[in-house]
Amino acid sequence: TNKPKIVVLGAGYAGMMTTKRLTQKLGPEEAEIVLVNKHNYHYQTTWLHEVAAGTINPNRSRIMIKDVIDTKRVALIQDSVVEVKQDEQRVVLENDEIGYDFLVIGLGFEKATFGIPGMEENAFSIESVDKSRLIRDHIEYQFSRYKNEPGEKDHLLTIVVGGAGFTGIEFVGELAERVPELCKKYDIDKRKVRIINIEAAPSILPGFDEELADYARKSLAFRDIEFKLGVMIKECKPDSVVIGEEEEEIKAGTIVWTGGVQANGVIGKSGFELTKGKVTVNSDLRAPGYENIFILGDCSWVMDEEKGRPFPPTAQLAIQEADTCANNIYALLYGGELESFIYDNKGTVASLGGQHAMGTVFDQKKLYGVTAKAMKNVIDDRYLFLLGGPKLVLKKGKFRPF
Ligand code: FAD
Ligand code: NAD
Repeated sequence: TNKPKIVVLGAGYAGMMTTKRLTQKLGPEEAEIVLVNKHNYHYQTTWLHEVAAGTINPNRSRIMIKDVIDTKRVALIQDSVVEVKQDEQRVVLENDEIGYDFLVIGLGFEKATFGIPGMEENAFSIESVDKSRLIRDHIEYQFSRYKNEPGEKDHLLTIVVGGAGFTGIEFVGELAERVPELCKKYDIDKRKVRIINIEAAPSILPGFDEELADYARKSLAFRDIEFKLGVMIKECKPDSVVIGEEEEEIKAGTIVWTGGVQANGVIGKSGFELTKGKVTVNSDLRAPGYENIFILGDCSWVMDEEKGRPFPPTAQLAIQEADTCANNIYALLYGGELESFIYDNKGTVASLGGQHAMGTVFDQKKLYGVTAKAMKNVIDDRYLFLLGGPKLVLKKGKFRPF
C-alpha cells in the first residue's frame, strides 16, 4: 500500500498516548500505525517504587496493550529495538527489521551510574517491572536468610538507597510501610532493620521546594529512615557501599541505586547526538537534523525557554508531548504549520508511603499528608482515564470507594 507508515518505539507514557492520539486523528485508510514494545504490556513506571518495595502487586502496574489500544488499527510488534538506521529509514529489532516514513521514539530511561565503580554490576535499580520485582524478592529473601544464617548477619537487614531524588524518596517511603510487615512475617525485631538513604547534595530532593523537602525528610525520619546527606557514594561492592571523603564502608544486604537516569542506550547507539545522556529536541519535538523523527519522554530534553534549562523528565511531560507529536505528524501528512510544544505544569506530588505524601499543585499551592495523597491518587487515575476510560480506572485505579 502507499499509506504512510508511522512507527512508534516503546509503549511507555509517550508511546502509548501518541499511538492513542494517532488512532483518534487518522482513519484506517490514512496511515499505517505500528507500535513496537519489549513486552505485550504497558506499565506504570510511576508506580515501580511500590512494586520494588512490595507494597503493590506487580500485576497492578501492568496494563495489557491490547486492552487499551485498538489492535485492528495498530499493528503491535513485541520485540526489542536494537538500533535506528536513519539513513535507510529502518529500525533494527532483535528478531526483525522494519521500515518507517515517520518515527516516534519513546523508549524511556535507564539508570545512569556516572562511572561509579561497581554500581552497574552490584546495585539494583527501579527501571522496569521485571527489575522492580527482583528488588522486592531480593529484600524478602534477605529477611528469610536472616533467620537461617549463623554468625554476624545484621547487615542482611540493611537496605541502602543511593540518591534522594524523587525516586529514592518515594522508594524509602514505601519501604517504611513494607518493613514492619516483613518483620512480622519473618519474626524479626524491627530495630534490627536499617534503611539508609544516601544523598550527595546537602539536602534531600535538591532543587525542590525546601519547606516540602524538609517536611518529607521529617516524615520519613519519624518512620526510622536514616539519611546521610552531603555524602557521595564512591564505590559499590557486592555487599557494601563506600561513601564520603573518609571512605566509610556500609555493609548492606540490599543496595538500590536511585542516583540518576539517562536516555535508553538505543539512542546513543543509533548515533543521535547526546547532551548529558539525552537528545535535545527542537521545539516541535523532532530530533535536530531529521524531518520525520520525533523523540519524546525520557529519551529527550525539551528546553524550558523561560528558565533556560530543560524540563525535568516526568510522565506528566511525556503524556503532554504525545499530543504535540500526534498533531505535528498530522501536519506533516496534510501540510500546515508544525506546533511548538508548550508545557502546562500541573505540579509535582510525591508519595511518602501509606497515606503520607507532599507536593505542589497548580500555581504552587503546597499540599501535605492525606490531602497530598488524595491528589496523588487523582493524578494516577486521571492518566488511566486518558488511556483507557472509566473501565481502566475501575480495574487499576487508586481510588477505591470500598
Ligand atoms: P517509559 O515510561 O520508561 O516507557 C518506555 C517503554 O519502552 C517501556 O514500556 C519499555 O518496556 C519500552 N522499551 C524500553 N526499551 C525498549 C527496547 N529496546 N525495545 C522495545 N521497547 C523498549 N513522573 C511523574 O510525572 N510523576 C510521578 O509521580 C513519577 N513517579 C516516578 C516514580 C518512579 C519510581 C520512577 C522511576 C519514575 C517516576 N516518574 C514520575 C518519571 C516517569 O516515570 C518517567 O519520566 C516516564 O516514565 C517517562 O516516560 P517514557 O514514555 O519516556 O518512558
Ligand atoms: P534524580 O536525578 O532526580 O535524583 C538523583 C539523586 O541522586 C540526586 O539528588 C543526586 O544528587 C543524587 N546522587 C547522584 N549521584 C550520587 C552519588 N554518587 N552519591 C549520592 N547521591 C548521588 O533521579 P530520580 O530521582 O530517579 O528522578 C528522575 C526523574 O523522574 C526526575 O525528573 C524526577 O522528577 C522524576 N520523578 C518524579 C516523581 C514524582 O513526580 N513523584 C517520582 C520519581 C521520579
